[in-house]
Amino acid sequence: MFLRGLKDSVRRLKGAGPAAAETLARLGISTIGGLLCHYPRDWEDRSRHVPLKDWQSGRVCTEVEVLTQDWFGFGRMKTLKVYVEDESARACLVCFNRAFLERQLKPGTRCRLFGQFYYKYGEIQSSAFDIEPVSGAISPILPVYPLTAGLSQGMLRKLVGRALDFSASSLEDELPESIIVRDKLLKKPVAIRAIHFPASMEELQKARKTLIYEELFYLEVMVGKRALARKLGVRNEEKEISALHSSFLIPNSSFSPLQLRLLERLPFSLTPGQDGAVKEINNDMESPYPMARLLQGDVGSGKTLVSFLAALKTVEQGSQAALMAPTELLARQHAENAARYLEPLGIRIAFLTGNLKANGRSQLLKALAAGEVDLVAGTHALFSRDVEYRNLALVVVDEQHRFGVVQRQAIMAKGRFPNLLMMSATPIPRSLALTVFGDLDVSVIRDMPPGRKEVKTHLARESNEGKVYDFVRKELAAGRQAYFVYPLIEGGDENELKDAVSMADRLGSEVFPGFSLALLHSKVDEEDKRRIMDSFRRGEIKILAATSVVEVGVDVPNATCMVIEHAERFGLAALHQLRGRVGRGEDQAYCFLVYSDTLTEDGKTRLKVMLENSDGFVIAEEDLKLRGPGQIAGIEQSGYLTLGIADPVRDAAELVRARSDAFAILEADPAMQKAEHRLIARVLEEAPPFGDVITATT
Ligand code: ADP
Ligand code: MG
Repeated sequence: MFLRGLKDSVRRLKGAGPAAAETLARLGISTIGGLLCHYPRDWEDRSRHVPLKDWQSGRVCTEVEVLTQDWFGFGRMKTLKVYVEDESARACLVCFNRAFLERQLKPGTRCRLFGQFYYKYGEIQSSAFDIEPVSGAISPILPVYPLTAGLSQGMLRKLVGRALDFSASSLEDELPESIIVRDKLLKKPVAIRAIHFPASMEELQKARKTLIYEELFYLEVMVGKRALARKLGVRNEEKEISALHSSFLIPNSSFSPLQLRLLERLPFSLTPGQDGAVKEINNDMESPYPMARLLQGDVGSGKTLVSFLAALKTVEQGSQAALMAPTELLARQHAENAARYLEPLGIRIAFLTGNLKANGRSQLLKALAAGEVDLVAGTHALFSRDVEYRNLALVVVDEQHRFGVVQRQAIMAKGRFPNLLMMSATPIPRSLALTVFGDLDVSVIRDMPPGRKEVKTHLARESNEGKVYDFVRKELAAGRQAYFVYPLIEGGDENELKDAVSMADRLGSEVFPGFSLALLHSKVDEEDKRRIMDSFRRGEIKILAATSVVEVGVDVPNATCMVIEHAERFGLAALHQLRGRVGRGEDQAYCFLVYSDTLTEDGKTRLKVMLENSDGFVIAEEDLKLRGPGQIAGIEQSGYLTLGIADPVRDAAELVRARSDAFAILEADPAMQKAEHRLIARVLEEAPPFGDVITATT
């Protein structure tokens, strides 16, 4: 029997009545297997002596003699105080709600004492302590569990102990024997006992290593299976699909004719990163299986062009491409660029958002359904129910982290196994890329178009903002443009914050009179937004006072200054995106991070990271360290969060090993029919470690 397959109710354990079962249910535990998978969050080593005088080091673990007892308070509040002494010091035990200790701790009694102490009223005191008689065996290493109200460590320890005895004879290994031997891991029954009640710290380490590896191994098997399922699903309809995807197949050529024509027309050549990505995409599109690729590249690395080249190949194969962006602003920018680059090659472009008027909309939908549009750029309106495509074979999702799983699936459903290209400028740390997006192929653009100068970043205290304004004024006078970004749209004065609306006023009338300024935030009407962005792009507007709406994708090369006020209020990903709005042209660009005096430690760290780093991948890793993986955009719904003991960031090396093991097995034996693999298949079938959460990501 596998651990998670132990479906017997916890009620079968002695001491687990209805009340206990209800309490455990609050921790999500209903079965014995579930109880055993409730791993300790820490362990308390009671075998190591820590005398009272060393109370500051954390936990005391010593043997004491009881000196005297005392009571304080009145009536129901009456509380027992017990004075004890070991070889090093005296201390006072405050027995809140534990009057029963009066009989156990008579003066002269010796006992073992464990607990956390503090200094109060001139004494070393503790109210969170445990005692044990000296007669018993020396205490071992004890588990410390995550708790909930109504549950004590003692109770949980007892129940887990019983669960271990209950299951001991039925537990089987969940890892292939060859891996256990190769990595010198523990057998499952040993590992599971040792994770709760280790005999030594060494054994605990081995148990952790075993269970972490096991968890990551199964995670990667599931990720690998998902990739496989995509291929197998297609195989059933293989004939149609290959007709769909390879009607214009030119084997082994790196670029297709239309792609070459675009490249000839460009005033620049592709960066090596772009070149590599296009070739990888081309390969995918020539294979009989649909592409599922994540294109990662820092802001400004030129991902859009790569997606255009992918679209060209699709059109060449007689199919349609859709390019989905999270905001109307960005979708429009893509449509305009597409018109500029692709229309001269005869590509028919359309633009579809929720704001399209009924008349234009119905015409557009007709054209899409009739195959008279080759490339459509738009927002999530691209997958509204009434939108039909004649032959959608490429779906590009820009800023993919801004879309949920459901939205991605909805657009995919508009075609038959369309190729999927997801683009992300929020670099996903490698450790997470292997789990959450583990079944996708990944292309990374590491380089920037040539001639870009690194954005110079400066920190400025709020009281020094005048100097920043002076600097920006000089840039404006030289014909350049600037962004000012605020954490709020309006109403900032209540929180002593600057907001976009009132600062737009102030910047326009007091700070930069004579330079045209516009206000941009999410509540500005779409039509106005477009006008404002157009005039900013044309250079008629010099200053944009905005919220983080300018964060995503906006591309205006003549803007050289990015001033972020209350910068400490923004997350690292947002700061990095915002800074990426400048430095897109030939002139030196600047980013000013203006911070207020109420700077938290976290805020300080973030600003420091921004000052010292420009590589988005490094910044993303730092972000991950600061916030933990749950906060990283796009990861919330992923199976990642159901990991119980492994941490893909901390255990990155194990993850890579587990992945290559899992993928090797799947490749050699996709149906898991070989004797040594049947075990894995059985675990997945009988007791899938991650439920079906993991299938929800792509
Ligand atoms: P992102 O990856 O952030 O989406 P964009 O696609 O917006 O980046 O590209 C940023 C800018 O770089 C655009 O103005 C684009 O025309 C330009 N660009 C893209 N590729 C190159 C290249 N190989 N050489 C020079 N400029 C390029
Ligand atoms: Mg972009």
